[in-house]
Amino acid sequence: MSEIVTQEGVIAWLRAFAVAVAQNRAYLTDLDAAIGDADHGSNMDRGMQAVVGKLDELGEPGGAGEPGEPSQGDIGALLKTVGMTLVSTVGGAAGPLYGTLFLQMGSAAGQAAELSPAQWAVVLEAGVKGVQARGKAELEDKTMVDALLQAAEALSAAAASGLSLADALRRAAEAAERGMKATIPLVARKGRASYLGERSAGHQDPGATSSWLLMEAAVEALALDALPERPGT
Ligand code: ADP
Ligand code: MG
Repeated sequence: MSEIVTQEGVIAWLRAFAVAVAQNRAYLTDLDAAIGDADHGSNMDRGMQAVVGKLDELGEPGGAGEPGEPSQGDIGALLKTVGMTLVSTVGGAAGPLYGTLFLQMGSAAGQAAELSPAQWAVVLEAGVKGVQARGKAELEDKTMVDALLQAAEALSAAAASGLSLADALRRAAEAAERGMKATIPLVARKGRASYLGERSAGHQDPGATSSWLLMEAAVEALALDALPERPGT
């Protein structure tokens, strides 16, 4: 029974997120067309395709263990590589912000090869704090922080109450969805959408939407990976 986050699980999560972003590229771009500059889908897709390219390289013989590359099983180094890849391939606001999310998650994960649900919650919280430190967005500024902060809080509450990894990740994704939907009536106070002032109200924030996809991808990849084997069923 796997109740822990492994490097394999994290890789599955990142690949699932890349697929979700590719499938929702037009949706994310449409959301950004309403209150931004219609590039969030293409920005995120470019970044995640670059991340997938890195993951493929790491899977090749001799790919891992090169200087600066994640060594076998090291979750922190993997997440830092993802963060640096996003920072260097994604323009606009979201690239550096998602880059910071993964870089800070990587620092918090350190050289661990396995993390408990509670440890994973601490890692996600560190990432979200990084996003806030970089972008200076608070809850209800109508940004990705609205989805990420709710998700991180729900994850740590779920882990603290002893829920399984799968259930804790489900709670986090549900919280992210609530945070995302809660951005609709808000007036944007950060990023490009804030230039619209009151006219930004009535639209769902694109970054909060991609963050919800990120949390959904974790349920898909990590929770399925962590489904307990039930002897006798
Ligand atoms: P850009 O706004 O530069 O075109 P994107 O369209 O890729 O970049 O990303 C827009 C998203 O970035 C927004 O929907 C919002 O969620 C997020 N964002 C923008 N500024 C900030 C910020 N200061 N803090 C957190 N998130 C932000
Ligand atoms: Mg944009």
